[in-house]
Amino acid sequence: LSQSRPGRIYVAPPDRHLVVEPGYIRVTRGPKENRFRPSVDVLFRSAALAYGSQVIGVVLTGSLDDGAAGLYAVKERGGIAIVQDPFEALYPSMPKAAMKAVTVDHCVSVTEMGSLLVRLTNETVEEEAGNPPDDKMEIEVGVAREDNAFEQGVMKLGTPSIYTCPECHGTLLRLKEGNLIRFRCHTGHAYSLDSLLVEVTKGIEDALWNTLRAIEESELLMRHMAGHLRESNDSETEALFLQKAEEAKRRADLVRQAVMSHETLSREKVSENALHH
Ligand SMILES: [Zn+2]
Repeated sequence: LSQSRPGRIYVAPPDRHLVVEPGYIRVTRGPKENRFRPSVDVLFRSAALAYGSQVIGVVLTGSLDDGAAGLYAVKERGGIAIVQDPFEALYPSMPKAAMKAVTVDHCVSVTEMGSLLVRLTNETVEEEAGNPPDDKMEIEVGVAREDNAFEQGVMKLGTPSIYTCPECHGTLLRLKEGNLIRFRCHTGHAYSLDSLLVEVTKGIEDALWNTLRAIEESELLMRHMAGHLRESNDSETEALFLQKAEEAKRRADLVRQAVMSHETLSREKVSENALHH
């Protein structure tokens, strides 16, 4: 925790969230959001809670939809939302997702960004322009601040879904903000729809490799047993085990094909695939 001073640039260190509080900057190891720490959504949401209409959130190039939920909080509290023009962005999906989640105030190229920020930071803003912070925003910032998510009332954030958290396997609650759907488990991990899809499809690959390993292990074990039976002159049972080992090998080949053709999916990837076909 350190006092925030004007005219300084604060950058989150790796593996830590940067949480803005009135007059202070806090560095935490709170649960990951969209698989990331630092998370831009944590930063934006905490700034929105602390400074309301005085906040300007900028989303630049990037994959998936990080920043969209944070920008939603910024706008809720009367702040200003800026995105880099997706047409010039190397990875347009972050600015695009932000534009779907909120009505952005400015969509500009990076070359125009500097002068726009100088102009905006010199304007006077009404302090009570946006909505007062709601309980949910306070709970979510509390979770990032390393508070006990359960005691903070994380269960009040949404309704239980049928999905489980890829990180801790806890039940995920479904949160709805405008047209944004997000998830958060009771220990505190948060996911956008897109980042949850990426994690779930990654999980399938892990599970397939695990299945392949188990089948191959069973095949090897059965061949080992067949060898043992040969030594004890039980050729009838040996043949049975060799047959079963062959069956296992064929099943392993099927799983190997499945794992090779498996892909980790996101909204961006699905649209790209559609373009190439
Ligand atoms: Zn979790």
